[in-house]
Amino acid sequence: MGDNVIEFFDDLGRKISQAGQSAVQKTKEMTDIVKLNSSIADEEKKIRNSYVEIGKLYVSLHGEEHEPDFDKLMADVHEAEEKINDYRKQIGNIKGIVKCEKCGADVPANSSYCNSCGAAMPVTETPEASAQEVTPDVQAEETGESEE
Ligand SMILES: [Zn+2]
Repeated sequence: MGDNVIEFFDDLGRKISQAGQSAVQKTKEMTDIVKLNSSIADEEKKIRNSYVEIGKLYVSLHGEEHEPDFDKLMADVHEAEEKINDYRKQIGNIKGIVKCEKCGADVPANSSYCNSCGAAMPVTETPEASAQEVTPDVQAEETGESEE
């Protein structure tokens, strides 16, 4: 009986230490996976940045005569750029400054001439707020037709 008890505890001890080792192993595997996933994310970021650079390069080389496949993307970029310009103008309006179209200097909105290059400033007109008709699309009609 005594031997059996000792054997039992020996065996138990071995099992516990094995379980401990496999827990350590599991933890190591988990950290390795986290590290590898982080490396993947880093590389994916590089790819995204490269794609952005490829896009910019393409636009600078072929912006004027691009393949039709690029129409939509080019239009999107132009639209966004125009919006940015418009937002910048709005910021200028709030701050009371306009950009000189010749040299790009910030000029007080009421100036007749650019205080940097001397160019005549365009007469500032208050742009009409474009009143867009907002028709809420509330068509909650339910047709009781059943398709077969
Ligand atoms: Zn100027």
